[in-house]
Amino acid sequence: MNMPRLTSAIFTDLLIYMVVFGLLMGLAFPSLMTLLGFDASNIYTAKFFMASMFAGVVMGAINFFWVNVTVRPHLRLLADRMRGIESVLKHTIQQEGWSEACEHRTCFINENSNDEIGASAQSFNALLRALVKSHDMETTLKELSNTLSSSLELSEMGEAALRMMTNRTNSSAGCLFIEDKGSLSLVANLGILDTAKLSKDPFVLYCMDVGRLERISLPEDVEVNALLTSFRPKEMLVIPILYKEKSQGVLVLASALGYSDDDQVLIKLFGQGLGMAMSNAQTHDRLQDLAAMDPLTDIYNRRFGLNRLREEFQRAQRTQSPLAVVMIDLDHFKNINDTYGHLMGDRVLVEVSKVVRQSLRDEDILVRYGGEEMLMVLPSADLQTGVSIADRVRRLIEDIQLTDDKGKRLPITASMGVSAIPRAFTENELQLIKAADDALYQAKAAGRNRVLSTR
Ligand code: GH3
Ligand code: MG
Ligand code: MG
Repeated sequence: MNMPRLTSAIFTDLLIYMVVFGLLMGLAFPSLMTLLGFDASNIYTAKFFMASMFAGVVMGAINFFWVNVTVRPHLRLLADRMRGIESVLKHTIQQEGWSEACEHRTCFINENSNDEIGASAQSFNALLRALVKSHDMETTLKELSNTLSSSLELSEMGEAALRMMTNRTNSSAGCLFIEDKGSLSLVANLGILDTAKLSKDPFVLYCMDVGRLERISLPEDVEVNALLTSFRPKEMLVIPILYKEKSQGVLVLASALGYSDDDQVLIKLFGQGLGMAMSNAQTHDRLQDLAAMDPLTDIYNRRFGLNRLREEFQRAQRTQSPLAVVMIDLDHFKNINDTYGHLMGDRVLVEVSKVVRQSLRDEDILVRYGGEEMLMVLPSADLQTGVSIADRVRRLIEDIQLTDDKGKRLPITASMGVSAIPRAFTENELQLIKAADDALYQAKAAGRNRVLSTR
């Protein structure tokens, strides 16, 4: 808003200077004429003085007119563009896409003259470009920190971060590994063909060990591992992900076009943020495990197991698929404790959990339901399948070879009750457990070491 007032003050001054300069020139002109040898009697007359002063004023006014016509539109354009940028800034302050909003026509000035005006247009455009770049960088970093804090689940966060990174830089493919007991395991992948091979690559492992980012240019004539990407990468970046100077993992990015210096700055900043996010995600995973697992047997605890059962129950109802549950209770376990001691009792519990867990599928859920009671949740299994799985497990428990310090084998057996949906009068998962519990009670009553089911 200040610009028009400022320019008009300058131009008023300019007009006065030019007119006064014209007047002075008009005054000086007759003396110049006499110096050049013209007849002084014709020149030092009031009429000639008036005429030359008038001509001086007219020349001054014409000069001012030309300055007005040539310089003012440029300044006006500069002022307009600045106001344009101001309004773009106001509108986009809470949004992204500044560079799209400030397109060439609205914000930039034509650099069409080779003089000071052209030079100021160039400087203005350069300043604007720097501003757009720094704003875009700020937006990207904001987006990055949102992505990194969007989820505490490692794979979810890693995938979102990798997607964002490949979008924001010249990357055409990439993958993220996490360090796990000395080797690398995959967190997220976008377009790398053989991640298993890459995770064992000595150069990748070396970069991670020494904690140094490596930029590898691959000239046209260099042979590239065909398993890496489906395109021919021009450049690759191996970025160790560090947090508190400790390696968390490594990020490998490949570009078909090559990386700019800006890309590299962004990737470096990204790597730093990712280190902290990965460390947080790992801590979160560990806490989740601690909250979900029974410390003695390392199978799900009752609280977490019941939540999982509720989810499976609802899914089975939604998809109209069967679901079986098996309640397991060790036979005469009190006797084992009394005869061999509590520590031996604990060993039996650990061994039984291990044997049962190993005999189940990955999607099955094993829960320590109570002291020596376990619950198996078997998605997609109907009652008959549940009974046969339970009986297989029962035989495996019976076969456990645990001996006391005198070499005497411990008698380990279990009784089991099975129930499954679809079944009448079962509205929720607690009723399903109750039915399995009733069947278990009957199995105990019928002599133990057997499997019974609800009808
Ligand atoms: P039944 O065949 O009728 O099931 O007899 P039982 O002796 O197994 O039944 P009961 O429920 O009376 O006894 C269960 C025992 O399991 C009692 C308890 O001391 C023991 N127990 C519960 N939790 C643990 C544990 O974490 N470690 C050990 N060692 N024993 C446990
Ligand atoms: Mg019991
Ligand atoms: Mg028991």
